[in-house]
Order: sequence, then structure tokens, then C-alpha cells
Amino acid sequence: MFRELNDPLQITLNGQIFKRLISAAEIEEKVAAMAAQIRADMGNAEVPVLLCILNGAFVFAADLVRYYEGLCELQFLRLSSYCGTDSTGKVTIYPGLDAEKFRGRRVVIVEDIVDTGLSMNRLLRELRQYEPRTIDVAALFTKPARLCHDVKVSYSCFEIPDAFIVGYGLDYDGLYRNLPAIYVKE
Ligand code: 5GP
Repeated sequence: MFRELNDPLQITLNGQIFKRLISAAEIEEKVAAMAAQIRADMGNAEVPVLLCILNGAFVFAADLVRYYEGLCELQFLRLSSYCGTDSTGKVTIYPGLDAEKFRGRRVVIVEDIVDTGLSMNRLLRELRQYEPRTIDVAALFTKPARLCHDVKVSYSCFEIPDAFIVGYGLDYDGLYRNLPAIYVKE
């Protein structure tokens, strides 16, 4: 729990006050539990593909795989839909999906936040065309009050209210991804 020293209850960033919503220790505990649950569901015979959605999920995915006590592959994609604190409504996938990485495999999408579900809905539709055996979504956060697309989240660490958060990989215009805890703007 060395990170506890590093995640104060309140911080000031660029003159704005951010309150801590979730501590680094709470995140660590939930991520470890999620890794154990995914491992148990996959069983010994499976080598799942964990598909990390950049940029926001890079810290979460790095921790999740280190708690995953079994063989797994890690792949990366970048989805882009946000500008500042707003969704642009248009989702772009970089690079395109490579069928051979996913056909017949058990895929776990590792995502930072399922907010409206727009990005995930779009990715799921595209990924299904490559015929993975199973697809599960593992999200660090869900915002149930905001969900308006058909997305099933198999694994979720935290359900949070409708607020814009930063830290632990999540940014505000490219900043604050390196905060070890989750903060919400006052
Ligand atoms: P959706 O397509 O589900 O509406 O939005 C998903 C993406 O929007 C997330 O993967 C994340 O990158 C971004 N996002 C949604 N809510 C937040 C938030 O509270 N903070 C940050 N930093 N990004 C968010």
C-alpha cells in the first residue's frame, strides 16, 4: 500500500480543486479481485487475449495482467471519441482489427470506462466479425446512469455516478493520467 502516501484526499491542478473519489489502495484491491475472477472463469486450458483499449486503459491493463496468474496474450487498440470532457459522437479505431489475432479466441476487452457505451458498442460490432469464440468486457468503471447503448459488461470494478474523473490512466486533455488514485473535479 505504498501508494497511499501519494494520493491525498484533495489536490489542486491548474488552479482547480479535485477531490479524491477512489484511493489507489481501493483500486488495487478491486483490480486484483477482477484478475482472479477472469482467471477462474477462463480455466486452465485457455489463453485469453486481453485487448487493452488505449489510451485510457493502459494503467488498468498493466495492473490487471500482473495480477492475472496464468497465460494470457495482450493486444492493443486505440479508440478515439472524446475531446476534453465531451464525446464527439464519432468513434475511430486505430489500427484496424486483425482477424487472425481474434478468430476462435476468448477475448477480454480491457476498457477504462463504459460511459454511454457508444465506443464499446462500435468495437463489439466490429470485433464480432472476426469470430472470436467469446467476447467479454472488463471495465474499470461503468456509469450506469449514462449508458444508452446495448453493451453487456461482464466484469466491472466500480459503478460511479455521472461525473468526469481523472487519474489512474484517465486524462483531461492529455493531463493527469499519472495520478495513482481517481479524482473528480469539484
Ligand atoms: P463512451 O463511448 O462509453 O461514451 O465513452 C467511453 C470513453 O470516454 C472512455 O473509454 C473514456 O476514454 C472516455 N470517458 C468517459 N467518461 C470519462 C471520464 O469521466 N473521464 C475521462 N477521463 N474519460 C472518460
